Amino acid sequence: MNIEKNNVAQIEYTLTNAEGEVMDASDGNPLAYLHGHSNLIPGLENELKGKTKGDKFKITIPAAEAYGERVDALIQTVPNNMFQGVDNLDVGMRFEAQSEQGMHSVEITAIEGDQVTVDGNHPMAGLELTFDVEVIDVRKATEEEIEHGHAHGAGGHQH
Ligand code: ZN
Repeated sequence: MNIEKNNVAQIEYTLTNAEGEVMDASDGNPLAYLHGHSNLIPGLENELKGKTKGDKFKITIPAAEAYGERVDALIQTVPNNMFQGVDNLDVGMRFEAQSEQGMHSVEITAIEGDQVTVDGNHPMAGLELTFDVEVIDVRKATEEEIEHGHAHGAGGHQH
C-alpha cells in the first residue's frame, strides 16, 4: 500500500538543522499521521506521497516549505501588566495569545524594565530542515480518523 490521501503512515524520523544538530527524532516511537490533512509540514508530506513500507529517504526542506519564513511583524513589545498573575516572568517562557488569526503561541524573547518583547514566530520558522525518514507502516484510515483529521492509536492522537 502506498501513501496517499486518507491513509495513515507510521514513520521514524530524525530532524536536523542546517548545522547538522538533531532538533527532533521519533527515536523508536514512530509518528503516525493522516496523509492529505496537513498534519505534517508541506515539504515533508509532499515527499512522502507514493512511498511505501520500508522506503527510506533524506530530504532538505527550505523554510518556506517547512514552518515558513520568520515574520518581523509577529515580534511585539508589550507592557508587563499584560501578564498579570504570572510570577517570575522570564525570557524563554511561552504563552498562548489571542490574535486576529486565532490562538497562537508566543515566546518571551526579552524583558527591559516594564517592557516585554514577545515573538509569535514558530520556533522553527526561518530554518531549513533536513529529515531522515523511514516508512514503518501504511494502512487505510478509519472513518473516525478521517472525520477528526488525524491518526489514532500508537504514534497518533490520544484522546
Ligand atoms: Zn481524533
